[in-house]
Amino acid sequence: MTSPMPPLRSGQINDAGILVTTIASSPTAPLSPPPQTTGSPTPTPLAEAILDTLVHRIGKDAQAARPHDWLAATILTIRNDIIERWMTSTKAAHAAGAKRVYYLSLEFLIGRLLRDAIANLDRTGEVTEALASLGVELAALEEIEPDAALGNGGLGRLAACFMESLASLDLPAYGYGIRYVNGMFRQRIDDGWQVELPENWLSHGNPWEFERRESAYFIGFGGEVVGHEDGSIHWKPAEALEALAVDTPVVGWRGKRVNTLRLWTARAFDPIRLDAFNAGDHIGALAGQARAESLVRVLYPSDSSAAGQELRLRQEYFFSSASIQDIVRRHVQYFGDIRTLAEKAAIQLNDTHPAVSVAELMRLLTDHHDLGFEEAWGITKATFGYTNHTLLPEALESWPLPLFERLLPRHMQIVYAINAKLLREARAVAGMDDRAIAAISLIDEGGERRVRMANLAFAGAHSVNGVAALHTDLMKQTVFADFHRLYPTRINNKTNGITPRRWLQECNPGLTALIREAIGDGFLDDLTRLTDLRPFAGDAGFRERFMAVKRSNKVALAAHLRESMGLRVDPDALFDVQIKRIHEYKRQLLNIVETVALYDQIRSHPERDWTPRVKLFAGKAASSYHNAKLIIKLANDVARRVNADPSVGGLLRIAFVPNYNVSLAEKIVPAADLSEQISTAGMEASGTGNMKFALNGALTIGTLDGANVEIRDHVGADDIVIFGMTADEVADRRASGYEPRSVIEGSPELRQAVNAISSGVFSPDDHGRYAGLMDGLYAHDWFMVAADFDAYASAQREIDRRWADKDGWAASAIRNVAGVGWFSSDRTIAEYARDIWGVM
Ligand SMILES: *Cc1c(COP(=O)(O)O)cnc(C)c1O
Repeated sequence: MTSPMPPLRSGQINDAGILVTTIASSPTAPLSPPPQTTGSPTPTPLAEAILDTLVHRIGKDAQAARPHDWLAATILTIRNDIIERWMTSTKAAHAAGAKRVYYLSLEFLIGRLLRDAIANLDRTGEVTEALASLGVELAALEEIEPDAALGNGGLGRLAACFMESLASLDLPAYGYGIRYVNGMFRQRIDDGWQVELPENWLSHGNPWEFERRESAYFIGFGGEVVGHEDGSIHWKPAEALEALAVDTPVVGWRGKRVNTLRLWTARAFDPIRLDAFNAGDHIGALAGQARAESLVRVLYPSDSSAAGQELRLRQEYFFSSASIQDIVRRHVQYFGDIRTLAEKAAIQLNDTHPAVSVAELMRLLTDHHDLGFEEAWGITKATFGYTNHTLLPEALESWPLPLFERLLPRHMQIVYAINAKLLREARAVAGMDDRAIAAISLIDEGGERRVRMANLAFAGAHSVNGVAALHTDLMKQTVFADFHRLYPTRINNKTNGITPRRWLQECNPGLTALIREAIGDGFLDDLTRLTDLRPFAGDAGFRERFMAVKRSNKVALAAHLRESMGLRVDPDALFDVQIKRIHEYKRQLLNIVETVALYDQIRSHPERDWTPRVKLFAGKAASSYHNAKLIIKLANDVARRVNADPSVGGLLRIAFVPNYNVSLAEKIVPAADLSEQISTAGMEASGTGNMKFALNGALTIGTLDGANVEIRDHVGADDIVIFGMTADEVADRRASGYEPRSVIEGSPELRQAVNAISSGVFSPDDHGRYAGLMDGLYAHDWFMVAADFDAYASAQREIDRRWADKDGWAASAIRNVAGVGWFSSDRTIAEYARDIWGVM
């Protein structure tokens, strides 16, 4: 299958040539001012190295170079430093016989890498200076680096934060995923509607990555399973292709360690069938390669519902199989004996997308390494951990049994064998009745038979964790209640976190500098030290400087909004921000309806002392999610009307900022005053946007959902504005027959806003556009927009009162920063390392 992996050698690096051709053809105009060597008189050694790379690797001189050439030359030069650390890290882990962590995720929402890499190497000043001496501005280069958007939202961003924290904590780790040719779509707003465009992030080549042609694996689909007389079993797939590794280095904080993000790409064994080609069938000759490439072409654009297509199951098996083969191969090569796998490898499944890995490892252990079922099962369970990300029934993956069996016949047998063992164990436990057995079964027998991936992941892992305390409790009470009775110690909590390098130091240098002055550098290595900042909330001078930093971030965002979308906003207004995937459970609609009610109030009572607000929305809707797309249109329709109405006198401005991604979040988060975290309680597993905002000094208006609960515990109940029903209350209300109509009719503000939207006040070109959406609120209102409306509106007026007290607001914002150090992903990863992986 594959040759043993030799230690990394720089001679294997295979990237020359590719960049030269793609970059030379770049149509992009040169940066202004045009690059010249007129900066400092003596170029620094780094400047000389960048220039040398430009000439010898890119094939351009300074005069001819375009922005993407400078970007590539800079990355390739910095990369040399990274490669050396990378090889050192890999060799040291090998020499120490260290246990490795493998993080399997179908999504890695990485964003840009240049700023992160040089900041973590502590070379930002040096690189800025070197480029300046060449007449190039680092910030301008950073802005043209494409966002590596190989994920939809929070789940993918979590994986990216985790990779950075693993390296920062000096833990040997690999991330495994798919190298999508087109990641997350680019969103354009046309006449208020979302338009999806392919994001070609690889169009200029990718100077960060290394193709590892020696790490290639056979991936089969379909065919049949043959049992031999000696008891051995042989799967003969009908179709096969090759998975090829493409590696990206991940630099940890202070450059201590460099880990590997290994993404798989696909290749046909026979990229071209020469016989067909020569016979004149030029297209058919390439069909195998096209078929293989289709596997890695698209990221399924959804994060809150399961993607049911066959191609998705093929993607899941493709990347799971390649990753598990790679892990097993590395273990056998380094340690010799497959039976010690669990001592040297911890595999974490990020949601159920890689859950078929459980069956794949069983297949390799039994069919290829000749272990018995029981022994293989013990190793498998000891190796895997599973992270659950959602309780929404529509998001729990399951596959029609006939499809699963057709694509993966051997895995189907293994699933049956696991299920038999599991259900026998369950039967032996007192109180497990038929209903409980049916709930635990890996096969859903109700209606069309389906393979349940969450159950497979639960059964095959020694640890199953939720991502916030509330979410973990609800897991025990709902989806996994019966599993929890069967295995009462398996479920545990690991509250999510965010990396403070990207989400504080890099996106908010002003605040970082101010904190350093106040409390020293300790928080850079241990974010919980931010608690030392708390007393500064009482220091008038500090408050003033803190708010000056916030204001300059708002000015910068205002400039960006003006340049990118022609929108003018007042930096002294309250910046009220809701940026996240558009989904009904996240309740952008609650925010919009309240905005409409506020608009109405401002017009009716212009004499009152209204708080000037800028309402910012951003987020993508899954392309097939009708209501989410309509909510985007509504936000834009309301914005158009309100922004053009002179009677609001600049008190209210609304903007939907297109194409939400990591880089846009890095611009908006540091400039926010108010963070909207208003999901229906019980439905947001954790959230991480909530953590980013609080860390950058925004106050939260939120429900007691996900990690908001723990944010309240850490910052203190006085410095967060909580409103609305709890998860228990939502469940009770649904159970006791919720009647939204009477709620709407009993709330004059809500009724007026809903009826205005419904009757076409904001859609004069199409009066009925929102009638269906509003009818949904009257008819069932599953997400409890009406039920929480009055509480939300009063919470917003509480925000107005707090904003009016400038000192009070500043103090509260400072206490938010001081309180959220615990939400560093370093803390989260340390907990996984200690409790689940046994590597710390
Ligand atoms: C942090 C982040 C998310 C997750 O945001 P939530 O508010 O937790 O849903 C999604 N997308 C991007 C680009 C992010 O940076």
